[in-house]
Amino acid sequence: MGDIKRYKSACGYECRIQEGAGLRAIDPETAYRFFPDRADLISEGLASGQIRGTVVYTRPGVCDACKKIVPVSLLHIEYAGGGNETVTGACPGCAGAVRIFEEDEPVICPICGKEMEAQIAGFWD
Ligand SMILES: [Zn+2]
Ligand SMILES: [Zn+2]
Repeated sequence: MGDIKRYKSACGYECRIQEGAGLRAIDPETAYRFFPDRADLISEGLASGQIRGTVVYTRPGVCDACKKIVPVSLLHIEYAGGGNETVTGACPGCAGAVRIFEEDEPVICPICGKEMEAQIAGFWD
C-alpha cells in the first residue's frame, strides 16, 4: 500500500504525490508499463531465471524543467545471482531527468528552495 502525501511550501506552492508501492508493484506487467524500454530485457531475464523479480514504486522527485515536485517511478530489479539494480524513471510531465528525494531527505520547494512540509493525505493500493 502506498501513501498519498501532501507537500506544502511557505511560498504557497503545494502538491499531492502518490508514493510507495501499490498492490501491483511486483507484477512484471507493471514494470513493462512504466519502463517499456526495459520490457524485453526483463521478460527475457524472468524467462531465463536470471531475474528473480521486479518491484515498481514511486518517490517524490523534482523536475527542474517543469519546476514541480513530481511522482517518479523507480524500478528495482532483483537478479538471481544476488545483485540488484534500481532504475530511475523520467519526469511524467516532460520525460526529462529528475532528482529523487530519498526517504530521509526533506523535499525542497522548486519555487522558493525552502523545505516543504509533508502530510499524509491518504492511502492508495
Ligand atoms: Zn518535467
Ligand atoms: Zn516554496
